[in-house]
Amino acid sequence: RKRVVSGVQPTGSVHLGNYLGAIKNWILLQDTYDTLFFIVDLHAITLPYDTPELLKATRSTAAIYLACGVDPLKASIFVQSHVRAHVELMWLLSSATPLGWLNRMIQFKEKSRKAGDENVGVSLLTYPVLMASDILLYQTDLVPVGEDQKQHLELTRELAERINYLYGGRKWKKLGGRGGALFKVPESLIPPIGARVMSLTDGLSKMSKSAPSDQSRINLLDTKDVIANKIKRCKTDSHPGLEFDNPERPECNNLLSIYQIITGRTKEEVEHECRDMNWGTFKATLADALIDHLLPIQARYSEITSDPAYLDQILSEGARKAADIAETTLNNVYQAMGFLQR
Ligand code: ATP
Ligand code: MG
Repeated sequence: RKRVVSGVQPTGSVHLGNYLGAIKNWILLQDTYDTLFFIVDLHAITLPYDTPELLKATRSTAAIYLACGVDPLKASIFVQSHVRAHVELMWLLSSATPLGWLNRMIQFKEKSRKAGDENVGVSLLTYPVLMASDILLYQTDLVPVGEDQKQHLELTRELAERINYLYGGRKWKKLGGRGGALFKVPESLIPPIGARVMSLTDGLSKMSKSAPSDQSRINLLDTKDVIANKIKRCKTDSHPGLEFDNPERPECNNLLSIYQIITGRTKEEVEHECRDMNWGTFKATLADALIDHLLPIQARYSEITSDPAYLDQILSEGARKAADIAETTLNNVYQAMGFLQR
């Protein structure tokens, strides 16, 4: 079976963008593919963070996966730092990553500009190498992610090809290995809609966990009232009626798209339904649809978090399965790179 891996950082709370861009699509994939979904805690320390918050968010993010419908009987769910191979492979990959590749990464430029020089550690720059390691360790075929991760995925592919070329094939065989490719070259799987959910307060920037204002996002665990309030206060415009795809109306396009996915309707249906609505009516309709969609997830979340032992058991089982696969890749790479076998 083809393999799928993906993850979310335990920084802050999981929001609608993470859900529509990534997690919601995982649920469909777990039936057909061999899936591994992890909480990428090692990525969460690339900017200054609060230690108790990291711990809390790691558990909470895992519980959200389950609440959204990731099924531990189908998918391996684990915490990235529980599988040591991620960091180990990253070191090996780092030595073959040209610095210029990392300097070009948009996320690094954006996040480092916002954080200020004093707060930018080396790991913010090398983040994409750890992400490549997360993916390549599992000989992954497909990586379901939001649009913002496209560039990192491209780097992962280039890195896989580079390592295969530098150390794989006949060179590896000479060292006693099986020869051939060390890594499968993965593809990104970006959903046709929902791949870039925008901020509620600015239709030109993406909804983000790390954005300072909580008003800019709908968190999956926001209460009914908070959701209604955020939608009521979100940015709109003064054009008459509502429409998709008008570049002068990014907020309008974003809110209609959210409504479209959350209700499972087609674009044409939403266009027809909302064309002549005013903002007041539409906002109330959208808030209701969001609440209807998120409340059952929140109910499952409370159930799951009421039994910490259940979650721990899933995470340890997931890590065990993941480590088995990861170790094989890691050992091959050590061998191909000329390290003495243990
Ligand atoms: P941070 O601001 O800390 O980077 P984030 O909101 O970008 O947080 P991540 O944990 O980095 O969240 O990303 C997890 C997954 O969610 C990735 O697959 C990413 O592509 C996807 N994603 C993040 N933001 C959005 C968004 N606004 N729309 C669609 N997908 C998104
Ligand atoms: Mg991000």
